[in-house]
Amino acid sequence: MDLDKLIQDRIRDVNDYPKPGVVFKDITPLLADHVAFAGVVDTVVNHYGRGTVDKIVGIEARGFILAAPVAYHMGAGFVPVRKKGKLPAATFEQSYELEYGAETIELHTDAFQPGDRVLIVDDVLATGGTARAAAELVRRGGGEVVGLSVLMELSFLNGRDRLDGLEVHALVTV
Ligand code: AMP
Repeated sequence: MDLDKLIQDRIRDVNDYPKPGVVFKDITPLLADHVAFAGVVDTVVNHYGRGTVDKIVGIEARGFILAAPVAYHMGAGFVPVRKKGKLPAATFEQSYELEYGAETIELHTDAFQPGDRVLIVDDVLATGGTARAAAELVRRGGGEVVGLSVLMELSFLNGRDRLDGLEVHALVTV
């Protein structure tokens, strides 16, 4: 099976999770397949090139799993963006609207050196609210956002349109 097919095959649809009407894209089968997982990491690293960024931001929680090996192989540091209340030191926080209610994410204020080139990594780009808020946090932290890399883009939700022209790299688009 070629890599694109393997990746698509290993992302499982779970209907009505976490609530009725949502099709959840479950990446745990992909993570458990070492060929698929390594293929994803290698594809992202090759797309950007080793040494092209200073920091990789992973968005809690599934973004962490993808971002850490990408950071290692790109020769970059790893920086977590977390849900409110999880980071121990001083933070910037950014709130954004969800379909129902709101969410707040945080970044340590000292996560970046001024001008750090930063790649944001997450599993799924849906409406774009999370990625937009993460990019805003990176800028407030003094970093320069060079792109967003996601395993899967749900293009029918038009998340890209909320990202002000940010370069988006998606391994799978549905
Ligand atoms: P959004 O802010 O709408 O782009 O949603 C993106 C965030 O929510 C990512 O961190 C994803 O992990 C999660 N997410 C949103 N929709 C889905 C979905 N259908 N399946 C899996 N994760 C999702």
